[in-house]
Amino acid sequence: MSESKKPTVATVWLDGCSGCHMSLLDMDERILDIFTRSDLVYSPLVDFKDYPDEVDVCLVEGAVSNEDDLAKVKKVREHTKTLIAFGDCAVTSNVPGMRNPMGTEAVLERAYHENVTINPMTPTQVIPQLLPMAKPVHTVVDVDVFLPGCPPSADLIYTMLDDLLSGRVPEVVGSRFGR
Ligand code: SF4
Repeated sequence: MSESKKPTVATVWLDGCSGCHMSLLDMDERILDIFTRSDLVYSPLVDFKDYPDEVDVCLVEGAVSNEDDLAKVKKVREHTKTLIAFGDCAVTSNVPGMRNPMGTEAVLERAYHENVTINPMTPTQVIPQLLPMAKPVHTVVDVDVFLPGCPPSADLIYTMLDDLLSGRVPEVVGSRFGR
C-alpha cells in the first residue's frame, strides 16, 4: 500500500442478500476507525459510479450468478491488490447456489410464469443473463482472503480490515497469505 496516501477500500455486491454489507455496518463506531485510516472509494454504501483503477482492498459479497456479476468481478480482480471473498455466498455460493441442481429454465419458469398472475413473461432486456450455475468467487477469479459466515460477524470483519490496514497478515484459514 502507498505510504503517501491512505489505503483504498472498496466493497462490491454480486448475488447476495446485502446481509454481509449490513454486518459491515454493524461494526458500529469501529467503522469510523476503519474509514479514518482508509478511503472508501467504491461501494453500494456510497455514490461512486466507477470502479477505480487501483484499489488496495475489496470485499466481494455474493456469488457470481449472471453475466453482469462475471464482468464486474473480473474487472474488480484486475484493479484490486487484495480481493476478499466476503461471506458464504462468495466463498461457497451458499443460498444463490441452491438453484444450481434445478437449472436456469426451471428458475425462470418459477419466477416469471408460475408465480405471476398478470402477463407472465420471461424478460429478454435489462435483466442480465443467468449463468448456468451460481459460482463461488474463487472459481472465477483468484481470491486472496476467504471470510466465511452468513454473514461474517462484525468482529471478524473489523479484525480482518484492522489487520490488513495495519500491514498484518489476517489469520483466516484458507487465506492465500497462509500458504
Ligand atoms: Fe446474505 Fe448470508 Fe449470502 Fe451474506 S452470506 S449475502 S448474509 S445469504
